[in-house]
Amino acid sequence: MPKPEAIIATPAVPLNSNVALAKASLFKFAGLLGIVFILATGLLFFVAKNLDSNEESENAFYAQKAVESLEKNLRSTIKDYAFWGDGYLHLHKTVDTDWAFTRQNLGPTLYSDFGLPGLFVVNAADRTVYSVLRGELNTVDAANWLGQPIGALLAQARQGAENEAVVTTFLNVHGMPALIAAAALTPGADPTVQPDNGPSSVLLFVEMLDSAKLEAMGKDYGIKGLHIATPDEIHKSSILPLGEGGSAGGLHWEAATPSTRLLGLMLPLIAIAALLVVFMIWAIIRRTTAAARALDCSYESLQLSQLALAQSEARFRDVAEASSDWIWEIDQQWRFTYLSERFESVTGLSRDLWIGANIDDLLRMELGTVSQWLSIPKRRQSISVQCSYVDLKRSARFTRISARGLVNQGFRGTATDITDEVEARRRIEFLSQHDALTGLPNRTRLQEFLDGKLKAAPTPEHPLVMLILDLDRFKPVNDLLGHAAGDEVLNEVSRRLGECVRSGDLVARIGGDEFVLILNDLGSVEQVEIACRRLIDSIEKPVKVEDQEVFVSASIGIAMAPNDATQAAELLRYADIALYEAKAGGRKTWRFYANEMNTKIIERRQLENDLRYGIAHGELRLHFQPRFRIADGQMVGAEALVRWQHPRRGLIPPDTFIPIAEETGLILALSNWVLTTACERAARWPTNLFVSVNLSPTEFQRGNLVERIGVAITTTGLQAQRLELEVTESVMLEDALGALEVMRALKRIGVRLSMDDFGTGYSSLSYLRSFPFDGLKIDRSFVSRLGESEEDRSIIKAIVGLGRALSLSVTAEGIETVQHMDLLKEVCCEEGQGYFLSRPLNNDDFESLLMAGQELGKT
Ligand code: C2E
Ligand code: CA
Ligand code: CA
Repeated sequence: MPKPEAIIATPAVPLNSNVALAKASLFKFAGLLGIVFILATGLLFFVAKNLDSNEESENAFYAQKAVESLEKNLRSTIKDYAFWGDGYLHLHKTVDTDWAFTRQNLGPTLYSDFGLPGLFVVNAADRTVYSVLRGELNTVDAANWLGQPIGALLAQARQGAENEAVVTTFLNVHGMPALIAAAALTPGADPTVQPDNGPSSVLLFVEMLDSAKLEAMGKDYGIKGLHIATPDEIHKSSILPLGEGGSAGGLHWEAATPSTRLLGLMLPLIAIAALLVVFMIWAIIRRTTAAARALDCSYESLQLSQLALAQSEARFRDVAEASSDWIWEIDQQWRFTYLSERFESVTGLSRDLWIGANIDDLLRMELGTVSQWLSIPKRRQSISVQCSYVDLKRSARFTRISARGLVNQGFRGTATDITDEVEARRRIEFLSQHDALTGLPNRTRLQEFLDGKLKAAPTPEHPLVMLILDLDRFKPVNDLLGHAAGDEVLNEVSRRLGECVRSGDLVARIGGDEFVLILNDLGSVEQVEIACRRLIDSIEKPVKVEDQEVFVSASIGIAMAPNDATQAAELLRYADIALYEAKAGGRKTWRFYANEMNTKIIERRQLENDLRYGIAHGELRLHFQPRFRIADGQMVGAEALVRWQHPRRGLIPPDTFIPIAEETGLILALSNWVLTTACERAARWPTNLFVSVNLSPTEFQRGNLVERIGVAITTTGLQAQRLELEVTESVMLEDALGALEVMRALKRIGVRLSMDDFGTGYSSLSYLRSFPFDGLKIDRSFVSRLGESEEDRSIIKAIVGLGRALSLSVTAEGIETVQHMDLLKEVCCEEGQGYFLSRPLNNDDFESLLMAGQELGKT
C-alpha cells in the first residue's frame, strides 16, 4: 500500500509557487478593489462638485433675476415720465423748473419715494438742462457726473423715440456699478400735444447699486452676501458681470458649499470600508499562505486558486451591487445578456423578463435610439447620455448611461439613476414660471403665453380677451383673520377661477390679490360679459376658513386684442385702466377698456400732482356750516368742510379730491391742515361753540391719529371737548378692533365723537352700542325724503328715540325746507344742519355771522 504522502506529492508543483499563485490572484483582486475604491471616491468628489455647482448656478440664476427685475422696474418708471404729454411740454424745448421741481412733477419725490439718486434731462443739443441729484436740484453735466461720454446712449434713446422704447445699460460710475435708463421725451398717448421734428431731449434715470441696494436685492432673492465684486474676486466664480463684458463691474456673493457636508459624511465611511477590506485581504492572505503551506499537491493548490478566484468574483459582484448604479451588457443584436442585481431594486423591473429584450425597448432617448447612439463610428466612451424609461409603477424615470464596446462585439455599461436631479431641474423651471402660493402661472409665464397668442394675430372676429381681476374686500380678511386665512382664500379663489375657464385659456396671479385671465373663443361682448358674471358669482360664494364664512368679491377690467391693442404690455395697461374704472364704478363689476379712460387717467394724475402742490402752497380753504338746536334755533357749533381753490379750475368740492388724497396718501397732510386750521379758528369763537371735523377711514389705519389730534389741540389751545370728530361706519368695517382702541384713546383725550351719515351702512346700530360715540348724524338722504314718505318719517322717529335711549345727541343733516324743519321739530330731533338754515360759509362770512349773533346776544 503506497504511503499517502507519496500520492499527494506526485504532481510536483513546488510549494512556493502555490502560495505565490494564491497571493498573486489575491493581490490582483486587492488591486481591483483598490481601483473600485478610488473610483467611488472620485465619483463622490464628482457628485459633490456637481452639488456645489448646481447650488451655485441657482444662486447665479437668482442674481440674474434680481438684476433683471431692477432693470424692469426702472424701465417702467422712466416710461411713465418720458412718454407723457405734460412732461414733453415742460421739459423738451425749455425746462420749466417750477413745474418739474417745485411742483414735484419730476422732482425730489423720485428720490424720496423711489430711491432714485440721479435724474437728468439732456436737451436736443446734448446739453444737460435739468438734473436732480439725491433729491436736490443741481446743475451738473450728466456725462461729467457719470464720469464718461454718453453720446452713444443718447443716440440710442433717440432712435427709440418713435416706438417709445427705453434703453438701459450698466456703467461703472466712479468705481460703483450703476444702472442707467434713457428714454427720449415724447408726448406719449396725449393727443393734445404735437411733437416737433427736431432731435428729441433725453431723460436719464440713474440707479446706483450701492451696498444697501444690493443687500435689499439679496434679501429679496435669497442670495447671501450680495456685494460689488472686488478686483481679486472678479475672476472667481459666483460672479455676475454687469454691463458689456463686465465693464460696469460685477456682483459677487458668498459661494454655496453643500458638498462639504456630503464629503464630511462620506469620506470617513469610505475610509472605514477600505480599512475593513485591507484587513480582510490580510486575513485571507495569511490563511491561504498557511493553507498552501499545508498542501503539497498542485491539484489542491489549483483548487485553492480557483476558490480564490471565485471568492474574488463574488467580492467584485458584491462591490458592483453595493454601488447605486446598475450594470448591463448587450450582444450584437442589442439584446440584454446581463443585468446586475441592482437593476431590480432601482427600476423595480424583473431581470428575467428583460434579459433577451432589446435595449431600445427599455431605454428611450430624446433624439434617436440607444442603438443608434452606440453605433456612432468614433463615439467617445467617456460621454454618457440621458435616457428615460417607465418603471414598475408606470412612472417615468431618468437614467444616465455610459457604454464601452466589448471584444466579442456587444456593449457593457452602467446606468446611473438621475430622476431626482431631472425632477429638481424641472421644479426650478416650474417655480420660475409659477406662483409659489397658488401654483398658478406667474407674470413671466403670462408674458410668454401672451406673446405666443399675440404672434398668432387674433382678429376682431376671434379676439384675444384679457381680464384683470382684483379681489374686493380682501385686505380685511388678511388683517382680521391673519395671513394663513388670506392664503386659504387666495387658493380657493384660484381654484374657482380655474374652474371657470376652458382648456387653452390661462389664469395667472400677478400680485397679492390680482389675477389675469386670457380667454380665447369669446367672439362677442355678450359672451365676455357672461364670463365676467360667472367669475364674479363664483368668487362671491362664501369661502370657508376655520369654521368661518368669508365673503370676497371681484372687479374686472377687460381689454381685447387686436381692437384695443396688439402688444402685451399695452393690453395689460389698458385692462388695468378698465379695472380702475370698474372699481370706481362701485366694485363687483366689470368694465371694457375705452379710449377716454386713458385721458381720464392722465387728467387724474395731473390733479394728483396739482393737489400735492396745492396742499403745500396754501390752496386749501375751510368753510364752516353752522349747526343749530332745532327747538330754539340757537347755533351750537359748525362743521368744517374743506375746499380747494385750484388756480385754473376754481373752487373744487371735496368729493372730487378727497378720494384722490386718500389713495395717494396725501390725506394725512390734508387732514393735518384741516385739523389745525379748524382748531385755530374755533379757538377764537365764543366758547359755547364747538367745531366738528370729518376724518377719513384711512386715517384710522395709518396709526398716530391720537397723537395728531393731541398735537392739534395743544398747539391751538382749543379745549378738547370743543372738538368733535365725525367718522363713518366704514372705519369700523375695515378694522373694528383697531378702531375701538383708537376711539377709546380719543375719548381719553376728551374730544367728542359722532357717527356721520348714519343709516347708509349695514350695521350702524350694532356699532353705535359698542363704540364710544357721543352723537350721530342722520344721513341727508332720509331727511330729503321726509315730506314724501311716511316710512322715512317713522325711521327718523325711531333713530331719534334710539339716540335718546343711548344718550346720544341726534343731528339731522340736509335740512332744505321749512317742512323738513317742522317735521323734525315734531319728532323732537335735537340738532340740525342744512341749506335751509345756512349754507357752508367761508371764514369771513362765518365770522360776520358770529358777530351778528353776538350783537343779537344769540351766541
Ligand atoms: P358730509 O360729511 O356728509 O358733509 C356734509 C355735506 O353735505 C357737505 O358737502 C355739505 O355742503 C352738504 N350739505 C350741507 N347741507 C346740505 C343740504 O341742505 N342739502 C344738501 N344737498 N347738501 C348739504 P361738501 O362740503 O361737498 O362735503 C362732502 C363730503 O366731503 C363730506 O360729506 C365729507 O364726507 C367730505 N369732507 C368734507 N370736508 C372734509 C375734510 O376736511 N376731511 C375729510 N376727510 N372729508 C371731508
Ligand atoms: Ca360730515
Ligand atoms: Ca354726512
